[in-house]
Amino acid sequence: MVHLKIALRLKWRTAFHTTGNRWRWGADKALVQRYDDTYVLPATSLKGALRDQAEQLLRGHVHICNAPDPGQMCSDLENLCLVCRVFGNPRRPSLLRFQDGVLRRKNIGEIETQIRAGVAISRRRRAAVPQRLYFVETTVAGPVEAQTVIEGFFPSQQEAEEAAALVVLAARMLPALGAGRTRGLGWLEAIETECTMDGQPLAGTALERYWNRWLGGGQ
Ligand SMILES: [Zn+2]
Repeated sequence: MVHLKIALRLKWRTAFHTTGNRWRWGADKALVQRYDDTYVLPATSLKGALRDQAEQLLRGHVHICNAPDPGQMCSDLENLCLVCRVFGNPRRPSLLRFQDGVLRRKNIGEIETQIRAGVAISRRRRAAVPQRLYFVETTVAGPVEAQTVIEGFFPSQQEAEEAAALVVLAARMLPALGAGRTRGLGWLEAIETECTMDGQPLAGTALERYWNRWLGGGQ
């Protein structure tokens, strides 16, 4: 077995929001907090965003199924598409384990939050819907960071490299993470990644080979 570890440092340039199930006075949608009250980027949000981004990048280049409709996703376990191999499938869970990332403010540490007013917009009519004012808890404006680790054990070095290549590609291309991007929330400055296999650094050139194969890059 090969142990793959991908360390991620996420940097946002705008305020951030993902809706948790916590109740906060004055907010209809409160930020996600962990058991110890720290504000977090949930592992499920990170995984979902990276998977969506991977699908967008690969569609039209390599065969991928139509997530998230379970009826349209790969059913043959012997012949899973690239996205299902890396991010999992209703019939076969991902070999990668995602963790929550603790949000921090650059050079300050502790996260402060604020309540913003939002207005529900009718997508069809492109107009504000009467009586649909709501309040969202976000991080205060300004740079926010989070660090997290994605890791897993793979049967072969090739499978570990393939997973690393897809996660890093999606992370590099991800424009925003979190809710409310149309309201200017969740826009990323960058996601920095560092991959190791069995403790040894994984060279960028190893990942580029996969990107070229998938996207027909190079020349
Ligand atoms: Zn699939």
